[in-house]
Amino acid sequence: MAEKILEVKHLCTSFIQEDGSELRAVDDLSYEVHEGECVAIIGESGSGKSVSALSILRLIPYPPGIIKSGQILYRGEDLMEKSDAQMEKIRGKNISMIFQEPSTSLNPVMTIGNQIMENILIHSDATREQARERAKELLEMVDIPNPDVRLKDYPYQFSGGMQQRAMIAMGMSCSPDILICDEPTTALDVTVQAQVLEQLNGLRSKYGTAIIIITHNLGIVARYADTVKIMYGGRVIESGTADDVFERPCHPYTIGLIRAVPRLDLPRSRGLHTIEGEPPNMAKISPGCCPFHLRCKYADDRCRNERPEAGPVGGGHMCACHHMELAEEERKEVVVH
Ligand code: SF4
Repeated sequence: MAEKILEVKHLCTSFIQEDGSELRAVDDLSYEVHEGECVAIIGESGSGKSVSALSILRLIPYPPGIIKSGQILYRGEDLMEKSDAQMEKIRGKNISMIFQEPSTSLNPVMTIGNQIMENILIHSDATREQARERAKELLEMVDIPNPDVRLKDYPYQFSGGMQQRAMIAMGMSCSPDILICDEPTTALDVTVQAQVLEQLNGLRSKYGTAIIIITHNLGIVARYADTVKIMYGGRVIESGTADDVFERPCHPYTIGLIRAVPRLDLPRSRGLHTIEGEPPNMAKISPGCCPFHLRCKYADDRCRNERPEAGPVGGGHMCACHHMELAEEERKEVVVH
């Protein structure tokens, strides 16, 4: 078993709203990441997946955000106990993050080369010349042609796919242990999405970098993820290996997500499925209930009054639902063999 490099334990992050109410964006989240592992965190907008990633890097804006409790152990050391200066050294060097939408994350008035070099110069003793050489290697590594020339380009001169590759180059510039990719392919068309994911997967195999992919799209991670965490209402409601979750989904929400993936192998008459309703406003939902109960056809009084804790359903496969057996028929319909 590869070494455990990150352990998130009972993380709770909230935002205090103008009316004083507390929005529990991340509610008792726990998971582990091992060397070279690809962990996919999946959920709709508002499920808490991006906030959980920003919490790991202690990038939650305070106020209104606050990490209320929990531990974030990186190689056994609790990041919650680090000073701001210590965190600045860890960010970008040991743990990197690629943010959503490269077109808005890149600085439009700095060349791509200078943006990659900046991270190298901050985190190492490299000279400008050495940093430029490294930036060139990194662009080559992510398949940008003529890296010597393209280093001098500004972001607007790169296509969407090239911008995302430049972001990956930037994220990998100090050979981090963990690369967090927040919706890394959302703004890209399907073929470029596949290229970018292949690239990330190649880097993971070559350098042993653990990758945390945050996405709302199950389809894109099925092929790459070792471990899958399904988030809803700030909590992991189902987790396991990719095979566990995609072949034996147990939670009604996971089954709904899989059902919502368009399938070319099924007749058109099947139509497109959606999950009725909207993600819950976590400022209004009681912590003592199942956060999915407003959208779940199996919900009963127990679901409205007792929060289901995640329990084992075989091996390391976990699910947090009081009545998962009721979704058995639906599960059989969605599973792809
Ligand atoms: Fe649905 Fe109840 Fe399970 Fe929640 S606990 S997913 S409401 S059946």
